[in-house]
Amino acid sequence: MNAADLTTSPFDDDKLREECGVFGVYGGQDAAAKAALGLHALQHRGQEAAGIVSFDGKQFYTHRALGHISDNFSSASVIDRLKGYSAVGHTRYSTTGETLLRNVQPLFAELNFGGFAVAHNGNLTNAMKLRRDLIEMGSIFQATSDTEVIIHLMARSSRTRSLEERLVDALMQVEGAYSLICLTKDSLLGVRDPLGVRPLVLGKLGDAFILASETCASDIIGADYVRDIEPGELVVINSEGLRSAKPFKPQKERFCVFEYIYFARPDSVLEGRGVYEARKRIGQELAKEKPVDADLVVPVPDSGVPASIGYAAASGIPFELGIIRNHYVGRTFIEPSDHVRHLGVKLKHNANQAILKGKRVILVDDSIVRGTTSKKIVSMVRDAGAREVHMRIASPPTTHSCYYGVDTPERAQLLAAQHDVEAMARLIGVDSLAFISIDGLYRAMGEAKRDPAQPKFCDACFTGEYPISLTDMEEKQGRGHSKDLFAGLAEI
Ligand code: SF4
Repeated sequence: MNAADLTTSPFDDDKLREECGVFGVYGGQDAAAKAALGLHALQHRGQEAAGIVSFDGKQFYTHRALGHISDNFSSASVIDRLKGYSAVGHTRYSTTGETLLRNVQPLFAELNFGGFAVAHNGNLTNAMKLRRDLIEMGSIFQATSDTEVIIHLMARSSRTRSLEERLVDALMQVEGAYSLICLTKDSLLGVRDPLGVRPLVLGKLGDAFILASETCASDIIGADYVRDIEPGELVVINSEGLRSAKPFKPQKERFCVFEYIYFARPDSVLEGRGVYEARKRIGQELAKEKPVDADLVVPVPDSGVPASIGYAAASGIPFELGIIRNHYVGRTFIEPSDHVRHLGVKLKHNANQAILKGKRVILVDDSIVRGTTSKKIVSMVRDAGAREVHMRIASPPTTHSCYYGVDTPERAQLLAAQHDVEAMARLIGVDSLAFISIDGLYRAMGEAKRDPAQPKFCDACFTGEYPISLTDMEEKQGRGHSKDLFAGLAEI
């Protein structure tokens, strides 16, 4: 059992998992303490391991460890060792590379211009190919994560170039999704891939600049949100202030729509949209599109709550907490045995019998991945005496895997890839099941509908239309890149 199993809700086990959170600070005092707090706010983006690298004008300091931020960065002795006015931090749930300490980020290397630390949220889709080419040219890799490729490409870039030029040169060769924060002896750099798939925001705290995956991480230290780093933008922060460049060929942005559905914290603001409000609007659209006569709207905690509020408001059906979460189950309470793991659902959540008995219930959840958890929840609600159970899902059916920094099960394990909605309803055991349409999702995001010629978001896990080439996957399959290829993919 890994740390995530111990601390996330058992209802979260059957979810797509965001892979990483990144945080950087330049200026002011106690950079490492701020980074630790920022990472604490980003813990939902990855629970397997975390690290911070700081710089005090003379040398770099590093602490990396498996486990949670609070387990590894709450002692004064650790934070005091991480001296300096600048720091970069990372919390991870691995997309590529095993959970070995050497894969824990920020990765650090001594390059000819000095120390270089990098924290990456996203996933490179041609990293395997680049890695093979680099190894053939003599590069020696220490870790198995895709991010190390960037460091090797920088090391090989022309020595006459500046550090920024070398970073850009490296990034021109990679494909995939990345929001990077890099720390050098002079500067903190932030960069988003040209499509801006993963988030990165800029904040300010006095004279200090903050870069973070989400605004909730700058909020925790009292920093003001300034703006999102734009897709394809590189910012360089140093003693002279902040400088911005757009070194890549401009492309239409394709921000990950799943950030709004599930990944981001509801109190964050991403790309100018409040996540909580976006989730409520999805619930409202869902109610308009997929109404059902019932007595109660009940969220699947915690991720289904904002969409349920929206559904209840739009349908006029009362919102009730029909499933109660116990917030006081300590991590150490659960022993890693199959028996207790099974009990885990009841340890952390219980159906609220007094509310559910004899009622027609609409359960609202954000997504269905394998469907295993949905089945357990439905059975728990029925056991509590619900007369009818209808399920409404605040995303379209998840039919495809993600390759851009999100851990998705094999396509063969995605319930919606294998069954139509009616069959899914039978398997989960509900009286009815319905998902928001892709156009409904876009409407909730403020668009008229999804423009198939130019979709505003990455929505590949719902549509199979991957906006960034999947070189490694194509090579693995030995076929050309097309939507059909992924429609037929059974193994990721
Ligand atoms: S495939 Fe889905 S989860 Fe992955 S980046 Fe695109 S929208 Fe987000």
